[in-house]
Amino acid sequence: MTNPTLHSTSLTELSFDPASADEWMAFGALGHRMLDDMLAYLASLPERPAWRDVPHDVRAALDEAVPLDGMGADAAYAQFAQHVLPYPNGNLHPRFFGWVQGNGTPLGMMSDMLAAGLNAHLGGFNHAPAIVERQTIAWLAALMGMPGASGLLVTGGTMANTLGLAVARHAQASRRGRDVRRDGLQCWPGEPAESPLVFYGSSETHGWARKAAEWLGLGDRAFRRVPVDREFRIDAAALDGIMTEDRAAGLTPFCIIGTAGTVNTGATDDLNALATLAERDGLWFHVDGAFGALAYLSDALRPQVAGMERADSVGFDLHKWGSLPFECACVLVRDGAAHHDAFRTNATYLATSARGVTAGSATYFADRGLDLTRGFKALKVWMSFKADGVNKLARLVEQNVAQCAYLASLIDAHEEMELLAPVPLNIVCFRYRVPGASDTELDALNTELLTRIQERGIAVPSSTIIDGRFALRVANVNHRSKTADFTMLAESVVTIGREIVAERHTK
Ligand SMILES: *Cc1c(COP(=O)(O)O)cnc(C)c1O
Repeated sequence: MTNPTLHSTSLTELSFDPASADEWMAFGALGHRMLDDMLAYLASLPERPAWRDVPHDVRAALDEAVPLDGMGADAAYAQFAQHVLPYPNGNLHPRFFGWVQGNGTPLGMMSDMLAAGLNAHLGGFNHAPAIVERQTIAWLAALMGMPGASGLLVTGGTMANTLGLAVARHAQASRRGRDVRRDGLQCWPGEPAESPLVFYGSSETHGWARKAAEWLGLGDRAFRRVPVDREFRIDAAALDGIMTEDRAAGLTPFCIIGTAGTVNTGATDDLNALATLAERDGLWFHVDGAFGALAYLSDALRPQVAGMERADSVGFDLHKWGSLPFECACVLVRDGAAHHDAFRTNATYLATSARGVTAGSATYFADRGLDLTRGFKALKVWMSFKADGVNKLARLVEQNVAQCAYLASLIDAHEEMELLAPVPLNIVCFRYRVPGASDTELDALNTELLTRIQERGIAVPSSTIIDGRFALRVANVNHRSKTADFTMLAESVVTIGREIVAERHTK
């Protein structure tokens, strides 16, 4: 009858906590050392290479069997310090300009530590961390011109935008008498086939839209790519024409996506024109503002992304131009009821109560997206906004745009470099050029040039293809960059470009 283990006195009970006051002291000393080492590392970034490859012996050392028995925290930390810390991606560095990867901040790092220490569960519930997330979302909504909007902090722009499109799909299908939560987008036997739901964005839309179309069961065919103009903005007249043809062909348009800051060139669609089209046709208007939405914080830059405030939903990152540590992004949905209608499940094990831990609407965050157990991402946003003020972030956004204008002016003024796209915001696409060389030759030359700049640890730009031509691409969301870093980049491009040309002539 009795369970012997419940009465056992010989059982050694385990925990991951230090086991005594002395062990807590020792762990504390290690923790302080970790913090001191990390801060010293961050302070020394300008003297370090922008990137270096992971040496073979380090790769070999990292290839290990499952550690069934532990070596202790001190030894594990020593291996991190030796094998991991010296070989990051580079995105901490003042001359990292690749893709769109933020630097993170010391305060954001500490906030993440506090959030992990508290290990708060942000599915919802009745506690101070949940109040902080609600407040943070309310601030972000106000800052983005959508006061009172519903929202959720998520892992990244891909998830934020996908959730926006999921709400659009549900709300727009409901208006047409369809229940996509119940029926999916399947054709059930004996029931009439439904007209395919389709949505629109420019050919410059980021790859999240394809993943979302596939994942939401719409299929990639449902994402109608609209041509862009010379400035890489959606051709609104072409969009109107394609929507008319699609309707005539029996398709059901439900959403228009506008991009504030495209990933290739930083172009922003005419968001007001798109909002007007969506209003006219009763469609959902979603804005992908992964980094560009942050331009809304600046009085000087806001006109560039005007019309964003007319969106039904907006997705944007805080781990790109917001500089906070990965991962952190936000989706805002103007119609809070539509937001919850797309995700609420009312599970019995998540029931609410009048008082206690589940007082109120228990899982209000889990009802706004896919995750149930969610971490306390809001803390780093809340702490950083309070400590630094949003005005400082707006000034940093302006600083990055000014630095890109400066780099563009250096390129324009130098006959061995040329811009391959306009520079409306914080992205510069350019190449080293040689008079008389063909595009194919310049593609090969610039590919090699980019590799050398990265391998020598000078800087980390990335690349893209603009109108079929290989471009060096600088995306600047770097709060650590100084004007001199861009001067150095431009000089290195010319020096290494000449070096490669000279090698080819001697071959
Ligand atoms: C980066 C980016 C995304 C995707 O955001 P993640 O945070 O990387 O998931 C979407 N759209 C644009 C324009 C982006 O630059």
